Amino acid sequence: MNTDKKTWHGIPREDIPWLPTVDAAACIGCQLCFVTCGRSVYEMQDNTAVAVAAMECVVGCTTCGNVCPTGAITFPTLDSVWKLEREHQIFRTVKKEALKKHEREDSLKAREAAQQAMAKVSTRAKVEVAGEFGDKHFLVRLEELITDKPYDIVNLRLEVPTVKGARQKAPSFMSFELTSENQEDVGAFLVEIAQLVHDAGLVLVSEQRL
Ligand code: SF4
Ligand code: SF4
Repeated sequence: MNTDKKTWHGIPREDIPWLPTVDAAACIGCQLCFVTCGRSVYEMQDNTAVAVAAMECVVGCTTCGNVCPTGAITFPTLDSVWKLEREHQIFRTVKKEALKKHEREDSLKAREAAQQAMAKVSTRAKVEVAGEFGDKHFLVRLEELITDKPYDIVNLRLEVPTVKGARQKAPSFMSFELTSENQEDVGAFLVEIAQLVHDAGLVLVSEQRL
C-alpha cells in the first residue's frame, strides 16, 4: 500500500493527470459518487456532483464512474497511466513497497498467532469435588501438592451437612479455584489435582477453566 497520498509509487501526485471529470449536464444528483468515494473527492453543489478534491482520487480507480447511473463521470485513458509507469520506472519503488507490505503482513500474522496462543492459556480454573471427606485429610494433601509449585488455591469453600456428620462419612462438597502465580497455563497441574481427587476416593464433579 502506498500510504503517502502526495506521491504515487514515487511520482508526485500532481504530475499524474488521473482525475474524474463530471459532465454536469448528465448528472442527475443521485449522490452515489458522493457516498461511494472513500477519498471525499466529491461535494454536491446545486444537486450536482463536483470533484472538489480531484487530486485525492486514487490513481487507476474508476469506481464512481462505473456506478454512476448516467455515465456522467469519465477518466483519462489507462494509456496515460501505463506511460507514466514506464517513464518513471516505478517498479523498483513498487518492489520496495511490496517488501515492506510483506513484512507488515508477516508481523501482523505473527502477532495474531501469539494473541491466539495467549487466548488459549488459562491461568485460573474452578474445581468442584464431592464425596466423603471424613479423615482423608484432602486439604492437607492438596496443600502438600502445591507446596514448592507456582500455584495457589483461592476461594475455597467446604460445605458439610454437620461437622460431626462429615466425620461420620456424610457426603460433602468442596469448591476452590486454582491459580498460577506465574500467569502460566494451569492445564497440566489440573491433571495432578484430578489424580489427587481420584486417589483420595473423591469425585471430581467439574473443572472449569476461567
Ligand atoms: S453518481 Fe453520477 S449522477 Fe449520481 S451524483 Fe454522481 S455524477 Fe451525478
Ligand atoms: S475513482 Fe475512486 S477514488 Fe477516484 S473519485 Fe471515484 S471513487 Fe473516488
